[in-house]
Amino acid sequence: MTVSIRQFDDGAWIHVADSRAVGAGEVRRVTDHDFCPCTVGHVLVEAFVDVGVAGHDVRARVAGQCIDCGTDGVLDWLTFGRVDGGTFRPVSTDAVQQVG
Ligand SMILES: [Zn+2]
Repeated sequence: MTVSIRQFDDGAWIHVADSRAVGAGEVRRVTDHDFCPCTVGHVLVEAFVDVGVAGHDVRARVAGQCIDCGTDGVLDWLTFGRVDGGTFRPVSTDAVQQVG
């Protein structure tokens, strides 16, 4: 089954199967990253630069800013959810995620 995954509104949203799935404005906790000096960065998602799929995972590169140290830039690929039987299941913003 093919599920369409696109970015919308200049990167403000990821649409999965033509409905809004993930929006900018969330803070993602990331580790194993080179985005900023923080061991665990808290990156405010400002825009989705690129979206893609790896297996069932919906992944994106985002432009954002670490709310702890102020670094801004583009974060490497991060998983935002999974498509499971045609349903999008988001990764919790409480999760500490590895980047890349
Ligand atoms: Zn930081």
